[in-house]
Parts: sequence; structure tokens; C-alpha cells
Amino acid sequence: MRCFVHHDAEAVGVCRCCSKGTCANCAMPVTHGIACSDACRPIAEKIAQLQLVALRNQGLHRAQRVIQPVMAVLLLAIGVWTVYTNPAWTEGWIFVAGGVVIGIALAFSSRRRRAT
Ligand SMILES: [Zn+2]
Ligand SMILES: [Zn+2]
Repeated sequence: MRCFVHHDAEAVGVCRCCSKGTCANCAMPVTHGIACSDACRPIAEKIAQLQLVALRNQGLHRAQRVIQPVMAVLLLAIGVWTVYTNPAWTEGWIFVAGGVVIGIALAFSSRRRRAT
């Protein structure tokens, strides 16, 4: 690939903003990439920041995936324990039901994730 300004120069990468080939002379460093010109630079920087935010959100989803099974197990444990130690107290079954519902929801969502 050649630089879109200097047709005899080999491109070192593509502009994050306009995706044009950019040579070492034209390239301006931005977060995780290069921009081809002063006009593209602020936009390329914005794109990089948006991608960083998206990455951070992915991390949040991963944390949720860990917390939810723990919550399901915890609810089940509390429910089973209260039903076992206090059979007259029917509210214990609410915890069991909650744990089962979260567990089923998790099983379904993980199956959907694997399918896509
Ligand atoms: Zn550009
Ligand atoms: Zn160039």
C-alpha cells in the first residue's frame, strides 16, 4: 500500500479517521494508531477514545458474568439453608426460587452467547 499523498512512499499504516494509506512522513501518532493530517487527527483521537470506552464496557460485562453465577449460588444456598433449618418459614423458598430463576437465565444467556 502507498501513501495517498506521496504516491512513491510506502504506507506505514492507515489513518484511523479516513482509512487512507499514510507514510512515515505524514503519519501523526494518536492513541493506538495514526492519523494522516491535522484535519483527521482530532477525529482519529475521538474514535480511539470511543473504542477504549467500548473495551472498558466489555470488561464490565465480563465482571457481571462472574458475579451473576455467584449470586445464583448464594441465593440457592441461603434458600436451602433457611428451608432446612426452619421448614415452617416458607419465605426461604423465595430465595431458592430466585437462585433457580437466575441460574436458568444464566444458562439461557450463555447458550445464546455460544450460538452467535
Ligand atoms: Zn485521515
Ligand atoms: Zn505521505
